Amino acid sequence: MPSTPELSVIIPVYNEEGNLLPLQEALRQAMEATGRSYEIIYCDDGSQDGSLSVLKNIAQSHPGVRVVVLRRNFGQTAAIAAGIDQARGNAVILMDADLQNDPRDIPRLLDKLDEGYDIVSGWRKHRQDPLFTKRLPSRIANWIIARITGVPIHDHGCTLKAYRREVLGGIALYGEMHRFLTVLGHWMGARTAEVEVTHHPRVRGKSKYTLSRIIKVLLDLPLLILLGNFLTRPSHFFGGIGMLFQFAAALCALDVLYEKYFEGDKASNNPFLLLAVFFALVGAQIIMIGLLAEMMTRVYHESQQKKTYVIREIIRSPGE
Ligand code: UDP
Ligand code: MG
Repeated sequence: MPSTPELSVIIPVYNEEGNLLPLQEALRQAMEATGRSYEIIYCDDGSQDGSLSVLKNIAQSHPGVRVVVLRRNFGQTAAIAAGIDQARGNAVILMDADLQNDPRDIPRLLDKLDEGYDIVSGWRKHRQDPLFTKRLPSRIANWIIARITGVPIHDHGCTLKAYRREVLGGIALYGEMHRFLTVLGHWMGARTAEVEVTHHPRVRGKSKYTLSRIIKVLLDLPLLILLGNFLTRPSHFFGGIGMLFQFAAALCALDVLYEKYFEGDKASNNPFLLLAVFFALVGAQIIMIGLLAEMMTRVYHESQQKKTYVIREIIRSPGE
């Protein structure tokens, strides 16, 4: 039986033909320097250039290489998820194929992992990307994410990170969520650390993303809030909002009663009557949505045998 490698490197590839050979060489050197057994998993995400044939050649001429070929372009997150499903190592390293990440940083990420952290995030402190389309929006996004999630990481968008595999095993990746792996992991109780990494400008090939990515990231944020805080108690979330509406309805209704009995205005002349009815109805509906969501989270957890908690380990006395 082939022995399982200690480290798995996962690399999503979409139209990167010029980068793959130099990347493989740099990776091989960096991984051999760690002195541990490793596998490199390239996930070809439906490339239309020569990437796939370069990858096939690499797999034939290098040990420890596996190429997962997706049927079409599913996007970076899906490609990463495919790689994670194949990974066998105890430690999983994710990085980009475009040589913007430097494989020579990997040993330092692993050192941190050995210190007992579950996720070690790369931080591109001196990022080599255009200011307005990449660096500035990512600064803002990272700031917002840090505020709403409380995960103290500078650079969520940096793909180069190292993970203990069991942390990744419990995370389902949808949409563009690979960017939030640190956050999702943190919520599962993973201990996170950060290491400065070098970042190079893209020399070959083109960036696959434009400014429109910001909109997707912004749309992901409310989802993140919902997933993080309310997945196990949605009726509290919706109920809170619904109660605010009921409160506003009560204020309006009080005004109507006051004006009727103390100032003699007919209730039907008072616009607050309509507002009171409106707020009460909307509030009631939001509370109902919370109850529906409550039933849906039960289906969500039970259909997937998901638990509402995560165990790190169980310690037993001898003979137990
Ligand atoms: N990528 C992918 N599928 C896609 C888009 C990108 O697998 O649909 C890969 C791409 O080949 C690269 C990584 O994801 O290895 C990051 O892409 P890119 O360098 O274009 O992103 P940027 O660094 O510009 O944010
Ligand atoms: Mg890049």
